[in-house]
Amino acid sequence: MSGISMPLHPLPEQQQQQQQLMCEEHKEERINIYCLSCETPTCSMCKVFGAHKDCEVAPLQSVYKRQKTELSDGIAILVAGNDRMQAIISQMEDICRNIEVRAEPPR
Ligand SMILES: [Zn+2]
Ligand SMILES: [Zn+2]
Repeated sequence: MSGISMPLHPLPEQQQQQQQLMCEEHKEERINIYCLSCETPTCSMCKVFGAHKDCEVAPLQSVYKRQKTELSDGIAILVAGNDRMQAIISQMEDICRNIEVRAEPPR
């Protein structure tokens, strides 16, 4: 055994930086609303007299919650689809077995 040393990479904890995003235009303003027109998160200053003053906005929290709901709906659909796939696969297996039985040459 030649000494193979595995270098340890300490993973940067990127998951830490969540929610507390600051506006690029207003460094002191937290991103706390979502611009529905531009489909981008933004700050309330931008909405009041910034780039998004004529835009439709919603509180970021509510948008986040809605997207999360949509996401779990999507997963439910996927799982349901998978169930159907499973049923189709087992049907196919049955058919294959029948064919195999019939394909056996009679003596
Ligand atoms: Zn801003
Ligand atoms: Zn906008």
